[in-house]
Amino acid sequence: MTLENRALFIIFGGTGDLARRKLYPSLFRLFRKGQINKHFAVIGTARREWSDTFFREVVSESIQSLSPTQRELEEFTSHFYYQSHNVNNTEEYVVLEKIAAELDRAYELKGNRLFYLAMAPQFFGVISSHIKSENIMTEHGFSRLVIEKPFGTDYKSAKKLNNEISAVFSEEQIFRIDHYLGKEMIQNISAIRFGNTIFESLWNHKYIDNIQITLAESIGVEERGGYYDQSGALKDMVQNHILQVVALLAMEPPTIFSDEAIRSEKITALQAVRVYSPDEVKDAFVRGQYGTGDKLQQHFKGYREEEGVDTLSNTETFVAGKFLIDNFRWTGVPFYVRTGKRMTEKGTRINIVFKESPINIFRGSETPIQEANSIPQNVLTIFIQPTEGFSLTLNGKEIGDGFNIDPVRLDYRHSAEASENSPEAYEKLILDALKGDATNFTHWDEVASSWKVVDAIRQTWDKEIPNFPNYTAGTMGPECSFDLLEKDGKQWVWQPDEWYR
Ligand code: NAD
Repeated sequence: MTLENRALFIIFGGTGDLARRKLYPSLFRLFRKGQINKHFAVIGTARREWSDTFFREVVSESIQSLSPTQRELEEFTSHFYYQSHNVNNTEEYVVLEKIAAELDRAYELKGNRLFYLAMAPQFFGVISSHIKSENIMTEHGFSRLVIEKPFGTDYKSAKKLNNEISAVFSEEQIFRIDHYLGKEMIQNISAIRFGNTIFESLWNHKYIDNIQITLAESIGVEERGGYYDQSGALKDMVQNHILQVVALLAMEPPTIFSDEAIRSEKITALQAVRVYSPDEVKDAFVRGQYGTGDKLQQHFKGYREEEGVDTLSNTETFVAGKFLIDNFRWTGVPFYVRTGKRMTEKGTRINIVFKESPINIFRGSETPIQEANSIPQNVLTIFIQPTEGFSLTLNGKEIGDGFNIDPVRLDYRHSAEASENSPEAYEKLILDALKGDATNFTHWDEVASSWKVVDAIRQTWDKEIPNFPNYTAGTMGPECSFDLLEKDGKQWVWQPDEWYR
């Protein structure tokens, strides 16, 4: 049986793209599943002068692809109310509080309020301070703030933003969205690590040679060129998504599988990621930008030809690098990461490469000889997207007369359910925020540590003009990304396009 959640959703930016494409369809899905039903109401606010009736029409329109019945449409949209509201005007918050109190009574919401800021981050401070000064938070029930990424553009701006919102909301009340942190990913990694003694007992520098994380996108910047050109792969992907995956892999086992326990271990892990000096950055990180490319009879534009992108842009669309974690468990183990656009294949994969056997006992044996040092390393691969699951390569004897070692791959995979940024992903995030489960949201301490690590890289890079473009659309990134591992005597496990090298 589904337990119905009670809450008033106050959506700032209720006429915007995010609200229409993601939030309303997600709320409708929750409504259909009975997660919200009678006891919920939504106030959409934005500058435009809309009536409740018009707002309801917009909401109806936004859920058409989910094929609601007429009855569902009427019932669902009857919970929606609109307030024309400029976030800088105090008087409008007074009216907002009045509507909120009325709806609280009418729908018996028990004072539960979820403030969703579907607006640019520059408004977060002013909205939060008005929520406080005009007493829109309730004393009974919960008051939670849900905010979108990006959370700042560097440590300094993130800290300023955090100071503004935390003057009003406590850390437990703040839900910072990171779309990549799907529950599946956390559950997947945790199940493999903590559900199998054979892995967790080997999960350290004694047995693991290196860890590789790839977040590859096959698409270019699409319609996000203008935004992306200001951000780049380092801020768009490494600061949040990649470092979150690093944290999940590197953290100590939590005492219990709860949001608080997991977050606290992730914070400790992130705080141990080395913040590099400029020389270390040059040695450990490389960047790239895609140029034109032809693949499978398709022609791809170069990044600088994309809409909204500066024709002389030096923004990176690819990053590869090596993180080091200075603690007992991980000392000396490189965490190689790479992410980019217009790569050969879309996919998020983690490869855990185990150390070589201490000695090759087959070397010099009488029957056909296995070459010295040629026993392949065991690799545990965790697939996150588009397939979900894992595989393990073990070495066996090649079938037949001779005696050769043959790597065998044990594979368990199925297609991943919800992808980043999908309505399904939002549905889960909203439900988690309603239930107060913060596992899939980032804590300020995680954001702060990640920015410190990333700022060191950005500041070093900003002092030099890169030689872009330096990789062909449709490949796995620039040559320097392969060199990065080769100089450590290693190579990327996942290489879907051997052809171009
Ligand atoms: P948008 O421009 O479509 O919508 C912005 C909303 O803010 C509109 O409703 C607008 O009326 C309102 N607004 C602007 N100034 C206002 C003011 N002074 N007073 C009251 N209302 C005002 O933007 P969006 O695409 O919906 O994105 C919103 C936020 O979500 C951004 O921070 C963005 O980075 C983030 N985000 C969006 C998406 C997406 O899919 N659209 C995905 C991830 C993150």
